[in-house]
Amino acid sequence: MSSTDFSSQNGAGGPPYANGPSQNPVALQPPGPGYMAHQTPYNPMQAKGPMPPGPGLYNSGPYQPIPPASSNQALPGQPMLKRPPMGPQHSMTPPQSASPNPGSRIPPAHATPPPVSANNYQHAPAWQYGGTPPMGAPPSMGAPPPMAMPPLRPVGNHMTSSPSLATPQASSAEYRATPPVFHNAMQPLCPPTSLQGYTQQGHMPTPGNGAQVPNSFDHLEMGPKMAGPLPPQQPGPPTRHMGLSYPSLPPGYQNTSAPPNAATMQHPVQPSTQPYSHPQPYQQPSAGPAQLSPSLSGLSLQSQTPEALRVVNLLQERNLLPLGPVTPPTPCLPQDLQKINCHPEVFRSTLTSIPQTQSLLNKAKLPLGLLLHPFKDLSQLPVVTSSTIVRCRSCRTYINPFVTFLDQRRWKCNLCYRVNDVPEEFMYNPVSRSYGEPHKRPEVQNATLEFIAPSEYMLRPPQPAVYLIVLDVSHNAVETGYLDVVCQSLLENINALPGDSRTKIGFITFDSTIHFYNLQEGLSQPQMLIVSDIEDIFLPTPDSLLVNLNECKELVQDLLRSLPQMFGKTMETQCALGPALQAAFKLLSSTGGRVSVFQTQLPSLGVGALKSREDPNQRASAKDIQHLSPATDFYKKLALDCSGQQVAVDLFLLSSQYCDLASLGCISRYSAGSVYYYPSYHQQHNPAGVECFQKDLKRYLTRKIGFEAVMRIRCSKGLSIHTFHGNFFVRSTDLLSLPNVNPDAGFAVQMSIEENLVDMQSVSFQAALLYTSSKGERRIRVHTMCLPVVNSLSDIFAGADVQAITCLLASMAVDRSVTASLSDARDAMTNASIDSLTSFRTSVLTIQQPGLLAPACLRLFPLYILALLKQKAFRTGTSTRLDDRVYAMCQLKYQPLAYVMLMIHPALYRVDDLTDEGALNVSERTIPQPRVQQLSVEKLSRDGAFLMDAGSVIYLWIGRNCNPKFLTQVLGLPNYAAVPLNMNMLPELDTAESQRTRAFVGWLREQRPFFPILHVIRDESPLKASFLQNMIEDRTESALSYYEFLLHIQQQVSK
Ligand SMILES: [Zn+2]
Repeated sequence: MSSTDFSSQNGAGGPPYANGPSQNPVALQPPGPGYMAHQTPYNPMQAKGPMPPGPGLYNSGPYQPIPPASSNQALPGQPMLKRPPMGPQHSMTPPQSASPNPGSRIPPAHATPPPVSANNYQHAPAWQYGGTPPMGAPPSMGAPPPMAMPPLRPVGNHMTSSPSLATPQASSAEYRATPPVFHNAMQPLCPPTSLQGYTQQGHMPTPGNGAQVPNSFDHLEMGPKMAGPLPPQQPGPPTRHMGLSYPSLPPGYQNTSAPPNAATMQHPVQPSTQPYSHPQPYQQPSAGPAQLSPSLSGLSLQSQTPEALRVVNLLQERNLLPLGPVTPPTPCLPQDLQKINCHPEVFRSTLTSIPQTQSLLNKAKLPLGLLLHPFKDLSQLPVVTSSTIVRCRSCRTYINPFVTFLDQRRWKCNLCYRVNDVPEEFMYNPVSRSYGEPHKRPEVQNATLEFIAPSEYMLRPPQPAVYLIVLDVSHNAVETGYLDVVCQSLLENINALPGDSRTKIGFITFDSTIHFYNLQEGLSQPQMLIVSDIEDIFLPTPDSLLVNLNECKELVQDLLRSLPQMFGKTMETQCALGPALQAAFKLLSSTGGRVSVFQTQLPSLGVGALKSREDPNQRASAKDIQHLSPATDFYKKLALDCSGQQVAVDLFLLSSQYCDLASLGCISRYSAGSVYYYPSYHQQHNPAGVECFQKDLKRYLTRKIGFEAVMRIRCSKGLSIHTFHGNFFVRSTDLLSLPNVNPDAGFAVQMSIEENLVDMQSVSFQAALLYTSSKGERRIRVHTMCLPVVNSLSDIFAGADVQAITCLLASMAVDRSVTASLSDARDAMTNASIDSLTSFRTSVLTIQQPGLLAPACLRLFPLYILALLKQKAFRTGTSTRLDDRVYAMCQLKYQPLAYVMLMIHPALYRVDDLTDEGALNVSERTIPQPRVQQLSVEKLSRDGAFLMDAGSVIYLWIGRNCNPKFLTQVLGLPNYAAVPLNMNMLPELDTAESQRTRAFVGWLREQRPFFPILHVIRDESPLKASFLQNMIEDRTESALSYYEFLLHIQQQVSK
């Protein structure tokens, strides 16, 4: 294994279930003579040799060997400092500091959980509800430390209790646009037993009353019958007649056009332009164990799209981009199954054909993993209310479209193959109002749907929506002017905050001290309470700081109107973020909820204080990037405390200087929060940044939110899930703890094949997200995806999803950058493309040809890898601020695939000649669809205007000789010289050109949950450099051009 081997990443080795970077790097050895040899399991991120550092050094002889990575071993393993407990309320076990054994194998999916790693912070059994939680025990404060001014009126000690904790009414009509809503009053046949503690106690703890937050959601979602070893009566996987194997590729297939019988082929179903249109009912055969057989047995390589495997010589074919967006491959499934499969925007796999064995996967040298966007806003979502949620008795899989009905009374689980009974009430179909057609139930007709969960899915009454706003009010913060924007946005959206009559809200501000606000009903104005003892934070009036929003709305509005002025003249420069976060945790720990922290500088006081670690002079020249890992584990540990109490922390970082996002970001990462970063934020100096912040805030405050959530990902027997990416805490082998879940969060997981899938024709994956809606309903959103199993390398390659592969590799590379080094990560990404193309060349191609050959489905792979190497997160040789880099890394890890792809490979369009030809029609607006251009300066012409969509930012580049018509009709400017250096808006002109351009920009913006700033730039603009940095096909002083990169890969592939 070479020094940049990632043996933990794609298979059996490595720290199990780590939440992000492992705490211990794998054992690293310097490259030896045999370091090219791959060992099992294959690791996609494996070094071949370092990339030439720059064009000047290209072809300059043998590559320098990589220095032994042991020099980087100082980085890993943040010490787990012992922190005194903050109060008696959290009786969790301290995190174990033992690092996972890097060489340990990932246990099979159903085995007992692995040794707890530092990342796998588990709670003692005492946490499970049903014990004797310290009900209502206030934090022990001792003698209250002195409070400073201002004068306080007597503070009441009464707290308005939540008006209703009765079982919430299933009244959320907004979720129920689709027909399959039905009620079934029958009792569950097998009442789950995991709630004994709850039901036997016979009372419901009152949220907000100090009730211990239950923490055994693991058991909840799992249900009463934990998956163990399969019972002996398990029938084996269905035996199907598939023939010996798929036919091998015909010789010279690369030159064949579509076979003559193309008409009868399984053509991939193109994703409809209307995602989530209601699936057509499909007729599932009601009997026959080999339900899939008739349709699947007809499948063979011949039914793959020949296009996916068309051989492309990358050195010859220059323009590889499709005209429009890159579409994901369609799994090679029978059409009726594929039609009903989970939408790829929600759930997709890096390989849409799953290899039969791990060794086959190792040969393909492509990473296997899933990308999820589980809580995505959906226009249509079937919602089912039923007293019985039908699940497999063995593995607890939810019944889904890919199960098999043996007859009307029995169904076979598609994950573990157990045969289950069909419950009596499932025989009735509420949609058709007919009896005896269980396979037509909505659960069996929709790969994505939501259940209203009955009480056995609750450990306590669903929590109310609770929002706590924590604001930096130091001099630096006030000077940026952000307070006005936050308060104004809250005032405007206060009635749109998701919630119901129980919604609670509170505020904390901080500088060198912590300020609380008593907003109790009946006060004539908000009371500010200042706690100056930041060493031992306590809540001055615990019961009146978090108030019912409806009952105290006027006081809240009062406070929001006066806050910006209250600190207008402050000279306090210190900033005690850590103590403020501790206070927030205390305030919310009895209910759970969401903390929104607004921070503008490096925390300077109290716990969690940080020092600047960045040397601006080293930004461009440093050989490797230091300080990508946190400086302290305070934020991570506090985040884990928060996670245990169902509290998530979202961080808004608005700053002009280094803030150590690598440390601060941990507070959100491990509590399943979000991070927003606005560099150089200033109300006067950066109006575009202000607009972006305003738009983001509005979305943030009003978007859907789920509380006290867990997500479990199950997969068919034989497959195993490990290494999750995203913001969460891994509670057990396959369960993610998500104190909050939001519709803009993405996740990725890596998978390995533990047992051969020899007898299987398809495998399934199911993500179940159990959460409490803002209306207090317990809900379960279930996504199920079915993929074919294949046994030939060519079939694996034919199903490769280049975008999913790229995104998964990006997440893996972020981890690698932190645990080892940035250069390791860069080498590993390059090697991923070298390895897969080598495998394709040696194992799939039957006729060798000169050139760099790739299957058409992977033709963009080297381009995307080069783009990653030039991305802010991973680039070298270019001045990149550390916080910018770390933020880019955060985004790569938790943004859904569509947005990550724009960050990696922006879309470039020529827009000075937009026409309505081929335009989209979206709600009576005509949206032009210009073709996507290559990212090269070659493509820019001086007489044009080009729009570059880079995800969170859009550039409109105006050529020096730009068509005057565009300047006048779209920009409203007389000539090129009149284009301002900082222009961020397109004027609303009454011309066809203006309307087309604005419609196009508006449409791009609508497709993402954040607000990309528009920068109109010309040659003299300061942002021109950023624009040009995205021209990733071009050579720069420090990086190869696309062509040079291809030559480098070719050299390695041909070795
Ligand atoms: Zn099962």
